Amino acid sequence: MIEKFKTEPFTDFTVPENKKNFEEAIQKIESSYGKEYPLYIKGKKIFVDEKINSYNPSDKDKLVGIVHKASVDEINFAVESASEAFKEWRFYPPQERAMYLLKAAQLLRKRKFEHAALQVIEVGKNWAEADADVAEAIDYLEYYGREMIRLSQEERLVSYPNEYNEYEYIPLGVIAVIPPWNFPLAIMLGMTTAAIVTGNTVVLKPASDTPVIGYKFVELMHEVGLPPGVLNFAPGSGAKIGDTLVSHHLTRMIAFTGSKEIGLRINNLAAQVFPKQIWLKRVILEMGGKDTMVIDEDCNIEDAVNATIAAAFGFQGQKCSACSRLVLVESIYNKFVEMLVAKAHTISIGPAKENHFMGPVVSGSAEKKILEYIDIGKTEGKLVVGGEKAPGNGHFIKPTIFIDVDPNARLSQEEIFGPVLSVIKAMDFNDALEIANNTEYGLTGAVYTRDRKKIMKAKKEFHCGNLYINRKCTGAMVGVHPFGGFNMSGTDSKAGGSDYLLLFTQGKAISEKLG
Ligand code: NAP
Repeated sequence: MIEKFKTEPFTDFTVPENKKNFEEAIQKIESSYGKEYPLYIKGKKIFVDEKINSYNPSDKDKLVGIVHKASVDEINFAVESASEAFKEWRFYPPQERAMYLLKAAQLLRKRKFEHAALQVIEVGKNWAEADADVAEAIDYLEYYGREMIRLSQEERLVSYPNEYNEYEYIPLGVIAVIPPWNFPLAIMLGMTTAAIVTGNTVVLKPASDTPVIGYKFVELMHEVGLPPGVLNFAPGSGAKIGDTLVSHHLTRMIAFTGSKEIGLRINNLAAQVFPKQIWLKRVILEMGGKDTMVIDEDCNIEDAVNATIAAAFGFQGQKCSACSRLVLVESIYNKFVEMLVAKAHTISIGPAKENHFMGPVVSGSAEKKILEYIDIGKTEGKLVVGGEKAPGNGHFIKPTIFIDVDPNARLSQEEIFGPVLSVIKAMDFNDALEIANNTEYGLTGAVYTRDRKKIMKAKKEFHCGNLYINRKCTGAMVGVHPFGGFNMSGTDSKAGGSDYLLLFTQGKAISEKLG
């Protein structure tokens, strides 16, 4: 009997001991700058000639790690190794598979600070954001472990005379897991361990911006004794090796989280049937967002301002759930903008290890893209905050707010994935909801109002996978807010929800005649 699932508490960094221990954890990570990390295939460390250099986005000259880089040959080897390992792993009892996750949760909890500190250094999260990512990762392990046990024990059939009937969820095969860099541990671990606990084997290609975080996770899973070949680690450029991984005839499913552009490419390729392939590939694609917060006149304005700042600029706006459009009803527009601008000016920005509210954006290419959108914004709206780089040797961009943006402008429609907020004026609440629904995305959304009828209307009409009332549109928690979006935000696979594991399985019905 295992304890009921409960979410992992966040660390209180105002407690001096926690602060001291976290600072030490950061120093420890810094002392391993420049270390090399191999591929991990068939339970063996593999060293190759090509490497990925992973730099600290807060301090561009600091090399966090050098990670060996898979070519097409290693991808083929990883898929074949995973396929070989599947022959045994698929028959491990569900409870046994779950134990690996529960053990990994224990170990990760012990090493929480080490893993969070690595995120501060490799991806530029502030302490609370990094801590929350690791807490979410622990939650996935605890939750999916329990979910697998539940799925294997639930009675689902009606009885029939003279027959013994069974219904079992069996695994699919080799799953290619392709995560993004922005929740570098939580999303990567969530997709990977959901695949493993359901009896599949995995080829994990981490995001090229966060390969050291990827390696540390894979190392931990091997430490808890995962059999060789069940989890294969093959970092490399998605552009160079992604097609090989997706189109391999032994790849049975692709679990992807990332941009719309890459998701659509994977969807297309996975729909093709290649020689020797004997199944239709399954894909889950969790893609981008253009998430809106709607603020009505009848709400606690101060709360709404604080929530907007947190949702738009937390982790530099680099969350798929980040608020990138703020729709204000006309009657409060000027007052709200004034308060928002004042609050945005108080945001501190600097190196992530110093724990500012905002750190750097993840890379030089992200910085370039965001600055290009800021230039577009200058032609589409009125710049009232930021709009430029912030000083420092990292990829720092000031929190940026444009007001008076047209709901159909590029700034209102395209995912920027950085600290850029567009403010849109609506005539009234009905108009605000229409604007909220006018993008091709449908991931998260939030509504601030005290009016019950308006809340009911928003619940019915605001078309997004995760809707929040009187709270910010970021911060989904495992088991509490199953997460995934509609339309071009993806296949709505609802990570951290009770339906999620089913996506990694197929149902087998067996009927035996008695007597
Ligand atoms: P991305 O550029 O689409 O990359 C995602 C992953 O795809 C990376 O591992 C990347 O590898 C890989 N990749 C690139 N080209 C590929 C190809 N041709 N074939 C196969 N894989 C390929 O996205 P990102 O910049 O990492 O992440 C940000 C995006 O993720 C945003 O759009 C955000 O909204 C979205 N996101 C969505 C959710 C959600 O739940 N809906 C959650 C988090 C993030 P490389 O790193 O080597 O290029």
